[in-house]
Amino acid sequence: MINVPDVTLNNGVKMPQVGYGVFQIPDGETTAAVTTALEAGYRSIDTAAVYRNESGVGRALARSGLPREELFVTTKLANSEQGYESALRAFDTSIGLLGLDYVDLYLIHWPLPRLDRYVETWQALEKLYADGRVRAIGVSNFQPSHLERLGGDIVPAVNQIELHPYLRQDGLRRYHADHDIVTEAWSPLARGGEPLADAAITALAEKYGRTPAQIVLRWHLQRDTVVIPKSATPSRIRENLSVFDFSLDDADLALLSNLDRGHRVGPDPDTFDGA
Ligand code: NDP
Repeated sequence: MINVPDVTLNNGVKMPQVGYGVFQIPDGETTAAVTTALEAGYRSIDTAAVYRNESGVGRALARSGLPREELFVTTKLANSEQGYESALRAFDTSIGLLGLDYVDLYLIHWPLPRLDRYVETWQALEKLYADGRVRAIGVSNFQPSHLERLGGDIVPAVNQIELHPYLRQDGLRRYHADHDIVTEAWSPLARGGEPLADAAITALAEKYGRTPAQIVLRWHLQRDTVVIPKSATPSRIRENLSVFDFSLDDADLALLSNLDRGHRVGPDPDTFDGA
């Protein structure tokens, strides 16, 4: 069994550095996919209300027979449910669909700066944390300006952001380091697109005898980032976790970092309005 290292969040909770993302997996296929991931050794699962597959995730968790304390489950508040009372209600719905008593990490999915309700939404997450219904709370797609405005008593444990070799996110990573926020990369493989075919990455794959996806995941891990690659393909689910028996040297890490071109595969958090 592969032993996935943990990172320690700012409240002492430990989170596996590699998790399994289930975006775009239909609910009916999610149970089988998450079961494959759990069998491969993943213990952290990343879902969201808007993915509409929390019940599929929950079924796989229940059927696995794994002790709850060995699992790390993240879900996210839907954009349409921002606001104090609506966030509390949405959390109840999510936890019901997951079939859990608590989640390990609950995130505000997007800041939606034009809606401007993320500050009161954060207060709802603080309440869930105070009530022991979540082990950690965090945000996703927050820019430094949004993080600065959050206020409250709790610093987010995690900011889950788009991050891959074509989008290095230096500014946010520096902000996170200064404020004890863990950086978690979504679309760590840039959705399996262009970067995996980049000549520099395929050359490194050849050099290390690994796949381009494994090279990219190693780059993330050696920069202390949490990753949640998604695959619906069993062999890739396993491949994406088989990244703890080699490491990239400093020159190759730098080479990967130099591929940055500010290229997003998802929306810009400063302008995305959740629609
Ligand atoms: P990823 O970067 O994880 O890429 C997924 C794509 O890459 C799929 O098409 C998959 O194909 C392919 N792929 C996976 N592994 C390999 C491999 N080893 N070799 C070649 N291709 C591969 O993109 P996602 O956008 O899914 O991001 C990962 C997770 O991040 C999501 O599932 C979700 O949990 C989270 N996320 C969060 C967001 C947020 O706003 N907070 C936004 C987007 C994602 P196939 O499935 O066919 O194998």
